[in-house]
Amino acid sequence: MPQPDVLIIGAGPAGLTAGIYASRAGHSVLILEKELIGGQITKTAIVENYPGFARPINAIELVQAMEQQARHFGCEFKTAEVTGIRNIDGGQGFSLAVETTDGEFNPGAVIIATGTKPRNLEVPGEKELTGKGVSYCAVCDGPLFRNKEVAVVGGGDSALEEAEFLTRFCSRVHLIHRRDEFRAAKITQDRIRANPKIRLLLSHTVVGIYGENHLEFLQVKDLKTGSVNPLPVAGLFIYAGLIPNTGFCQGRINLDEAGFIITDDNLQTNIPGVFAAGDVRKKTVRQIATAVGDGAVAGMMTHKYLTESHHQ
Ligand code: FAD
Repeated sequence: MPQPDVLIIGAGPAGLTAGIYASRAGHSVLILEKELIGGQITKTAIVENYPGFARPINAIELVQAMEQQARHFGCEFKTAEVTGIRNIDGGQGFSLAVETTDGEFNPGAVIIATGTKPRNLEVPGEKELTGKGVSYCAVCDGPLFRNKEVAVVGGGDSALEEAEFLTRFCSRVHLIHRRDEFRAAKITQDRIRANPKIRLLLSHTVVGIYGENHLEFLQVKDLKTGSVNPLPVAGLFIYAGLIPNTGFCQGRINLDEAGFIITDDNLQTNIPGVFAAGDVRKKTVRQIATAVGDGAVAGMMTHKYLTESHHQ
């Protein structure tokens, strides 16, 4: 089987953009994706902070356009999960090995763009009731809770935007955040505070999730008084932070203490020819615009690496 010049792991905004840049530079590009092309944006409904659009845009349409653009320049896609990556002394014109659920690949260069997954709350009942009222995706599951009361946990942009989205369906949304201030953009905070369907529970935290076969109520602790009270809700949407998808990098690629990939200014990792782009990388802002920016840099730097190492 011919090996690609560039193997990209993950088909979110970072991976798709890296594919556009590397394929336009004349390289054969294979993008491996274990779930849905589009990545985390497929978990939201609208995007209003990606430049170039005066009005809010449909998130799915945005990633579909990125996918079409990547295909237009020749990127190929395959459904497979990457399970390992290593540097080998190939002696046959390659030095990288990427292990996947669909065999091993030996590309000239690799771009890791595997993003993140949601962090669990780690409270009693969460695991048992996931899919039975507990969810990490308002767009996927929100319509199931039409005319019902739900709760959202979190204080960042995703939590507030998804709480607002849920008011389209739900009779009431309790927004629970452990601090007394939100981290989200001020414009979103202002809309949340003005929305009569949203009830704020600041300085509160969920300490337990209960129900027989389906979520029935939460135990919610007031962190200022210490009192714990039941909150009857049919749904709980958790936006409590992000965990990088870097399990397959352990012991090979340098990671920070939280598991995000450490890169240099050219987005190269500690292994020559292996680059990282998007939310999976150690950085401060995780958004579509920054993922796309990383994808452009990684695509260009991969081209430079391949050209300089004559790896084609
Ligand atoms: P991701 O989008 O996470 O894509 C990574 C891809 O890699 C995934 O498809 C995953 O399945 C795949 N993958 C992971 N591991 C493997 C493996 N081992 N093998 C193969 N494939 C793998 N950003 C904004 O700018 N504006 C918004 O309004 C906005 N709203 C958001 C709302 C929600 C609910 C969420 C969750 C996020 C939101 N974001 C928003 C953030 C934005 O979605 C991310 O910053 C962006 O998607 C990051 O892109 P990425 O390509 O780095 O990673």
